[in-house]
Amino acid sequence: MHQSPDPELLSLNTATVREKWSLRQMIEGCARHGIRGISPWRDKLAELGAKEAAKMMRSHGLTVTGLCRGGMFPATDRRGRQAAIEDNLRAIEDAAILEARCLVLVVGGIPPGSKDIAGAREQVRDGIGAVLDHARACGVPLAIEALHPMYAADRACVNTLAQANDLCNELGEGLGLAVDVYHVWWDPRLKAEIERAGDKRLLAFHICDWLVPTGDLLLDRGMMGDGVIDIPLIRSWVEAAGYRGFHEVEIFSANNWWRRDPDEVLAICRERHQSCC
Ligand code: ZN
Repeated sequence: MHQSPDPELLSLNTATVREKWSLRQMIEGCARHGIRGISPWRDKLAELGAKEAAKMMRSHGLTVTGLCRGGMFPATDRRGRQAAIEDNLRAIEDAAILEARCLVLVVGGIPPGSKDIAGAREQVRDGIGAVLDHARACGVPLAIEALHPMYAADRACVNTLAQANDLCNELGEGLGLAVDVYHVWWDPRLKAEIERAGDKRLLAFHICDWLVPTGDLLLDRGMMGDGVIDIPLIRSWVEAAGYRGFHEVEIFSANNWWRRDPDEVLAICRERHQSCC
């Protein structure tokens, strides 16, 4: 029997209730349900603007466990790559205003028309390298989120924690990892790469579950406990490596959780965090 996690460490990634609630409703909802962390996506952040959102989150006692997201570095030409860099610099500034624990990077896939995944990975390295100094100056750690390989073409060509750790080795201080159980649970090297990352690099821990069968590549994530991921085991690994941060629920679910009353969703998140994480 595992020990239930500290309920104070639950965080809401706004993707989980994005269809029915505004950012304002999400902030108030977290406070109402005793959820102490929040991780907004930038489309929701735009509703209030970073300054207003920061003020409101603070006044509701919320810690910003991450800002989602920067990244998407690879592009067909120089202009496209430069536009991505500028967008990331703006995201870093918003993350600084929010005092976010990290800016999550979904690094991007292969540019349209290309078959060069190795080249895309070089563009990712160069893109992160181009914004890292600014992130350091702003005090915003960048968290590379390795995505499941099924997203390598269109969302992220960094697909394992080993790749993400290698990038951290290469680029140095100010860079770390977001460990999302949905993306990495299958990896035979998961435990070893979490140990390798250590507490300095472990910046975020995202939770949900892998449903069998999965009906949609993007929008059919499960609630913790409804799938095949041993979340308590993975949590024990990140904690053994020294991670003491939040557990952020991030569920993309077009046909189930997004259709439900968000107050019901948050209540179930709290309960499953205790019973299944
Ligand atoms: Zn995630």
